[in-house]
Amino acid sequence: MKKFFIPLFSVVLLSSCASVNYSYDGKAFNHSLETITQQNLRKNLYVIASDEMGGRDTGSPGQKKAGEYIIKQYQDMGVSHPDVMDSFYQKVPAAYMNTGRGAGLPDSENILAFIKGSEKPDEIIVISAHYDHVGTKNGVVYNGADDDGSGTVAVMEIAKAFQKAKKDGHGPKRSILFLHVTGEEHGLLGSKYYADHPIYPMANTVANLNIDMIGRCDPGNCGKDYVYVIGSEMLSTDLKKINVEANNKVTKLELNYKYDDPKDPQRLYYRSDHYNFAKNGVPVAFFFDGIHEDYHKPTDDADKIDYAALQKRTQLVFATAWELANRKDRIVVDGKNNR
Ligand SMILES: [Zn+2]
Repeated sequence: MKKFFIPLFSVVLLSSCASVNYSYDGKAFNHSLETITQQNLRKNLYVIASDEMGGRDTGSPGQKKAGEYIIKQYQDMGVSHPDVMDSFYQKVPAAYMNTGRGAGLPDSENILAFIKGSEKPDEIIVISAHYDHVGTKNGVVYNGADDDGSGTVAVMEIAKAFQKAKKDGHGPKRSILFLHVTGEEHGLLGSKYYADHPIYPMANTVANLNIDMIGRCDPGNCGKDYVYVIGSEMLSTDLKKINVEANNKVTKLELNYKYDDPKDPQRLYYRSDHYNFAKNGVPVAFFFDGIHEDYHKPTDDADKIDYAALQKRTQLVFATAWELANRKDRIVVDGKNNR
């Protein structure tokens, strides 16, 4: 009896090591998900949206200081820049921005961090947020805690969750680029620069999940667990399905598609950084909390953020990225930008 027992036992052990369970009810996902905490989000946001950063105007010393803080967080979690770059910085030259709303801006930088995929490293998921804001006016600092300090800290928190999975031996199968863009407030300049000078080819870019303001509520939705998701089915029916399933299984928020109505006058699909990916045929989903009373006011402060909501919405983007990165087939592109 004993003779047979030992080999049988080792076969069971072997097979459980060979196939990691990547599903939402598996340990791999949940051990990573639980690293996304309100405490971390709050700690980082109080720094990013502090007066010391001077409102993070594009190219200002305050923005550069915020950038240094962001890079330090990646270094501390053991995440590096893309292997094809020699630093975290992609310089966006003043000459590039000196048109239209960017006129008169100094040089600035996009910040890129990267986790290489274990099975399909050439296929890239981009998770983005802008880290600039509107600066200081008449001595008053516009801290931009929600816009877009919330997205900035969410992207870092998602990176930490994927890095935890990697350390545990089940890192993402596709690669993930964590992209902190500059110049959004002057006309999506940093993301436009990235799209014009992509580090990894747009043809290999599977999807862009963009986060711009996810820590507050708008007047019609306060008290609800919700988030606006914009553009998720414009280019890919798969992307919307994946996002909905992630939400049903993990976060259970109310997903609001109001801004997907082609008749909506705000036309938000065309108005944040994700559009620079969408216009190149990359499926996008944009996560947003709506327009509230402190939008672009000096009162957009870290103490007004709903950290429980910020955590949930960050977890939704993480869960969506997890499936995009680990599923067998790359998502289909079966739609067009102008429907
Ligand atoms: Zn913004």
